[in-house]
Amino acid sequence: MPQVKPARPVARGRLFFANPGPTNIPDSVLLATARASMDFNDPAFLAVYDACVEGLKKVLKTKQHLFMYTASGHGAWEASLVNTLSSGDHVLIPETGHFSDSWAKMAKALGLRVTLLEADWRRGIEMARIREALAADTSHDIKAVCCVHNETAAGTRLPVEQVRAILDEVKHPALLMADTISSLGCFDFRMDEWGVDVCVGGSQKGLMLPTGFSFTGASEKAMAAHRASKHPRHYFDWTEMLARRQKSFVGTVPVTLFYGLQEALRLMLDEEGLDNVFSRHARLAKAVRACVNHWSGNNGPQLFCQNPERASDSVTAVLMPEGHDAEKVRKIALERFNVSTGGGLNKLGGKVFRIGHLGDLNEPMILGTLGAVEMALSLAGVPHAKGGVQAAMDSLASS
Ligand SMILES: *Cc1c(COP(=O)(O)O)cnc(C)c1O
Repeated sequence: MPQVKPARPVARGRLFFANPGPTNIPDSVLLATARASMDFNDPAFLAVYDACVEGLKKVLKTKQHLFMYTASGHGAWEASLVNTLSSGDHVLIPETGHFSDSWAKMAKALGLRVTLLEADWRRGIEMARIREALAADTSHDIKAVCCVHNETAAGTRLPVEQVRAILDEVKHPALLMADTISSLGCFDFRMDEWGVDVCVGGSQKGLMLPTGFSFTGASEKAMAAHRASKHPRHYFDWTEMLARRQKSFVGTVPVTLFYGLQEALRLMLDEEGLDNVFSRHARLAKAVRACVNHWSGNNGPQLFCQNPERASDSVTAVLMPEGHDAEKVRKIALERFNVSTGGGLNKLGGKVFRIGHLGDLNEPMILGTLGAVEMALSLAGVPHAKGGVQAAMDSLASS
């Protein structure tokens, strides 16, 4: 086996990983996944499996159905569409950024008719536009509204509960779908209470697991739509899954990930408590925003999100001043200080870098990351007001 030459000098200490997905994996979760292979029908595993399903439903705040797949989030996106809709069906997708656009692209490729409600990525879509589109659809041509709860590319959130209120108000029967891949386990999501019919989640963001499985929660209404749906499907087919003991997974179950999931759920639900998980995310997010707002002095980088009500508690996108390359800052932060941040996606490439503050993170990790980024800004010759980290410390000390 040839030795792979390291891409950069070996750095001691921890890599500070501030990408918005995948995220840090707690040591206890890592250790829990280190298991020998076992039969996925072994009763010892089935007990763990059943406990995981129950725990995951608690995180989704649902008592309805859950289907899981050996796939990244994209697989659950596809499953949500092909299980409930038929070729040519019309779906409405409020634009939030790269991820709404990618889901729309997938829906089109799968033969659905897509209306992407275009919106400013920085401000977030106005709810009135969604209302207008649904109210105008008196023939109920629209079969589903697909919302990205947390737009990971822009660092914005979309209030899914308000979309439910609009559907109820205009008495529109469309399915409400929500992508919760980067919000689940970071800030509040309530599948049943908010009347979400299909919600999409993945393992490697707020759930603090390795990449490898994704899932969809499905309401009774979604199950009825499933029975009527004629879209071709097989690997993601819920009916195929219902016939199996696990009621998920067409094929081999990724057993070791479930031992990790069991531990991650224990950390979230039992040890820390979901409400404390959310308040920790809110506290760290607020500190990051305070820091970036400070940097914006001297024509420095600024918050990409211009609407404080929509600011994400999972990830902050930072917009570079004109003429400065975000990739240069990221490269310095990584190579000099062993701090990894997310790059700009799609049309934001080079213009934005992203600080992920979701999952297994605490105050000193966030401060370390912000300190490294602030040094990288200086080294890259990017104008900014010094002292952003102090602003973050002030924010953390007061909350
Ligand atoms: C990461 C992400 C996805 C895609 O998930 P993969 O696991 O990369 O396939 C979809 N939507 C959102 C909001 C995401 O953050």
